[in-house]
Amino acid sequence: MSSVEPQNSTTVPEQPTRRKRGVPEGLWLRCDGCGATVFRKRVDQGQRLCPECGHHFYATISQRIEQLLDAGSFEEWCAELASVDPLGFVDKKPYRERVAAEQRKTGLREACVVGRGYLRGRPLVIGLTDSAFIMGSMGSVVGEKLTRAIEAATETKLPLVIVSGSGGGARMHEGIFSLMQMGKVSAALARFHEAGGLYISVLTNPTMGGVAASFASLGDIIIAEPKALIGFAGPRVVKATVKQPLPDDFQTSEFLLEHGFIDRIVARPQLRSEIARIIDYCGH
Ligand SMILES: [Zn+2]
Repeated sequence: MSSVEPQNSTTVPEQPTRRKRGVPEGLWLRCDGCGATVFRKRVDQGQRLCPECGHHFYATISQRIEQLLDAGSFEEWCAELASVDPLGFVDKKPYRERVAAEQRKTGLREACVVGRGYLRGRPLVIGLTDSAFIMGSMGSVVGEKLTRAIEAATETKLPLVIVSGSGGGARMHEGIFSLMQMGKVSAALARFHEAGGLYISVLTNPTMGGVAASFASLGDIIIAEPKALIGFAGPRVVKATVKQPLPDDFQTSEFLLEHGFIDRIVARPQLRSEIARIIDYCGH
């Protein structure tokens, strides 16, 4: 976090400092889509969409639950699960401290929330990951919560929806314990699939790394929000590896739809009715 304060001196060379000109911080947002400065409250009231261009801003897990599920119907499972520090990992700070700081910052206990709820009157099991919590990376708790949710969906024969928002895949702070979650969650999904379950995967910006390489890509139906970044390694790494210029829209929802990786792009305001329609269509 920057500790640089805006300075009055004219001798200071231009540098990106935070603007604080009497406007209460956070009241306005700058849209990455159209560059407009938009009133945060309007964005919040409009499902976190830019009122000018429809750009999809980041939405928290609780905002997503509110947008998708019937009011008051969500029942959270395994809320008590929290990360341990199996490796005693330290980078810039100890992993335990990092987790505590992320918990304070996001109000979440971990990068994933699972539970059961109703979507337009249809019961379902839902899991969501939040890219704001250590990039939404899949540590042991994320993997365990998702696995338990998938197993519960298998037992109860309810449709499963997982909304992915993960800039990171594996959580390096947990090493091999994190990597093993990919296999664990995928195996649970395979059993769910064999039992005839319906799994709808919703990809949001960003869905990358081990999350994209496991549960996010295993949906019976894969939906993406418009212009989401979706891929395994980042474009810079891919470019350096293949030594070829990449298409402009590489790793976007639109590119992946065209290449058959996802089934449909659905704007956030239509997500709820679209999921309801798929559940009905699949007879679940
Ligand atoms: Zn915009």
